[in-house]
Amino acid sequence: MTLNFSYAGSPAQIVFGSGSLKTLSEWIEKAGCRRALILSTPHQKADAEALARDIGSLACGVFAGATMHTPVEVTESAMRVVSETNADCVVSLGGGSTTGLGKAIAYRTDLHQIVVPTTYAGSEVTPILGQTEGGRKTTVRDAKILPEIVVYDPSLTLGLPVAMSVTSGLNAMAHAVEALYARDRNPISSLMALEGLRAFQRSLPAIVRDPRNADARSDALYGAWLCGSVLGTVGMALHHKICHTLGGSFDTPHAETHAVMLPHTAAFNAGAAASELAEAASIFRGSIGGGLWDFAKAIGAPLSLREFGLTQADLDRAASIAVDNPYWNPRPIDLASIRRLLQDAWEGQRPQN
Ligand code: NAD
Repeated sequence: MTLNFSYAGSPAQIVFGSGSLKTLSEWIEKAGCRRALILSTPHQKADAEALARDIGSLACGVFAGATMHTPVEVTESAMRVVSETNADCVVSLGGGSTTGLGKAIAYRTDLHQIVVPTTYAGSEVTPILGQTEGGRKTTVRDAKILPEIVVYDPSLTLGLPVAMSVTSGLNAMAHAVEALYARDRNPISSLMALEGLRAFQRSLPAIVRDPRNADARSDALYGAWLCGSVLGTVGMALHHKICHTLGGSFDTPHAETHAVMLPHTAAFNAGAAASELAEAASIFRGSIGGGLWDFAKAIGAPLSLREFGLTQADLDRAASIAVDNPYWNPRPIDLASIRRLLQDAWEGQRPQN
């Protein structure tokens, strides 16, 4: 086999383990910081306040206004709190929405970020920020956006509702599937992607059976780290482009959209990336698309775009947006085949490939 690749390891500090949140103060101090602004969504405000109490004088305040798609107006409100409190770092406690706000602040200020993830979205280990302004979502990639420290404490995910655990896990798995056929993949990204898929293949059914299974929660969060890491290091293709189009133009729910689309986009690329996807297909005991669809169905994931209220006219428009700007994908894309792919996903058909 001829190898030819370039590889850069992530500079982020990863701390993983049940109870590791107790070491947060230590990590704030090691980063040379003394005034942490804790960020969360309104839903997790009480947890953010409890965390602020736990770290005592190292906390300078709580901003609990994080919301989906990182609207610039919310970031501007948070920036006012950053300057009023004279914060020297942010601690983002939550899922991708809260991490997004921390990233948006760091992008503008270069403040240190410490992330404590409570979903499996994987944003905490990527240098990518998606933000919305005037209804338009734009994506930026910058070294300042990559969080410096990530504290993964699986005990914080014990209460993540089962439906969210399932869709968030499939969202993470989509990063891994696309990483396997990425043009700029390397041996480490492929190892991490496969290990991430195995972790979710083991843990999600166990979480569905018993949401408070601590070992399964730990395995799933380990999978989230792996899958998020490959999202941060190699390029994504058709799957992420379509989900971005559906979320951005039709406001479909983020993780659920990934969950529905993954078996279909994987099946679409199955022939063109057969050798790259072979090991992943064997993890899901079937063809890559069919095997992922069976897995998603068994764990109760949403299976059709129709469930999000999309119409046939929306599919026409989504297909043309998704083929509008050319981008690399293992199988070349054209309007008719993308429209067919969206139709299958809308109907919730099991893919054959
Ligand atoms: P989210 O952060 O929007 O969380 C959804 C809801 O669940 C929120 O109300 C949150 O407070 C709540 N929640 C989170 N953890 C919980 C827990 N353990 N128990 C109970 N409730 C909990 O959802 P998400 O799917 O993690 O993030 C989606 C966002 O992240 C999208 O905007 C997406 O674009 C972004 N994202 C960005 C990247 C990137 O690399 N830039 C990667 C993945 C996702």
